[in-house]
Amino acid sequence: MDLVCKVYVVFILALIAVGVNGWPKNPGDIPDLPHTIQMSYNTSPELGTGQFLWGFFKEHSMPKTQQDFLEEARRDIPEVSVEEVEARRKRGDDLILLDVREKDEVRAGYIDGAVTIPRGFLEFQVAGQIPTTDKDVVVYCAGGARSLLAAKVLRSMGYERVTSMAGGITRWKDAGYAVVRDRQLSAEQLERYSRHFLLRQMGEKGQGKLLDAKVLLVGAGGLGSPSGLYLAAAGIGTLGIVDADVVDLSNLQRQVLHSTDRIGVLKTESAKQTINGLNPDVQVRLYNERLTVDNVMDIFQDYDIIVDGCDNFPTRYLVNDAAFFAGKPVVHGSIFQFEGQASVFKPHAGPCYRCLFPTPPPPGMVPS
Ligand SMILES: [Zn+2]
Repeated sequence: MDLVCKVYVVFILALIAVGVNGWPKNPGDIPDLPHTIQMSYNTSPELGTGQFLWGFFKEHSMPKTQQDFLEEARRDIPEVSVEEVEARRKRGDDLILLDVREKDEVRAGYIDGAVTIPRGFLEFQVAGQIPTTDKDVVVYCAGGARSLLAAKVLRSMGYERVTSMAGGITRWKDAGYAVVRDRQLSAEQLERYSRHFLLRQMGEKGQGKLLDAKVLLVGAGGLGSPSGLYLAAAGIGTLGIVDADVVDLSNLQRQVLHSTDRIGVLKTESAKQTINGLNPDVQVRLYNERLTVDNVMDIFQDYDIIVDGCDNFPTRYLVNDAAFFAGKPVVHGSIFQFEGQASVFKPHAGPCYRCLFPTPPPPGMVPS
């Protein structure tokens, strides 16, 4: 047969096939067709020619439905079971879990250690959170559909070893595996700290840590004032303030926790008013006393970090020694005229203040 004849015969056969199988009335009548139709004209034997032609037509000219996208993703992306994921986690495999649900869903609980990127931000944020593309990545969502689509995108972005967890976190929970919840923030807190959440390293989890943190300010003067304001604004949950002085007019040129109408008021009281006016989340504890060898260990024991903003050498050495023995990091600051020093002294992880300055200067040598 010559070519024209062959084409004619194929055309007639196709028409007969459509006649025999019937032209589908609507896409819902059509079983999902293998992807090979798109790749090759050699259809599988169990499909009628009419179905084949419909499939070909559909693949090339019809808008895709949700089902089409999922089928396509399923052909490309291997699915793993929740049991397999848990077993690999227990073995300590180098495995990245990626939660692509929305923030509200993640707040209700996620798998411990998972990286969380809402599906809508995936393409924009994944390189920052998963910088290398050769790691094993298991994507999950609520039920296993969004994760398939997300995994397909990741595959096209070069993540070669990406899989999707079948059944999502719903099946994970049904299997009795644990989920973790970050500290639950109120709507007001979500708005107040929203700029923190833009920082990838912070997020709601980091904010929760700040709200759980306890910081002690030694001194509510020139160094304690700006520290206290910023710590309060950032949402440190508990701020202790040690100071026995009252507000003096000459303090106000630098001690920004205080104000003119509080001259004569205890600095601790004045600081508390300013801090709670700025952020009512902060629980302020007041110590209207000087630090001494008798009270220092008792006071320090409740705090995670000590901020040394004191104005005299005996207290500075006392703070250093007590923090060293209590194992508390000291954030240290000191100034003189136009010069200042700031440092962190973490016990047993580096030098302490005494290592840097073994003895205080003689009395009268340095003004305090
Ligand atoms: Zn030392």
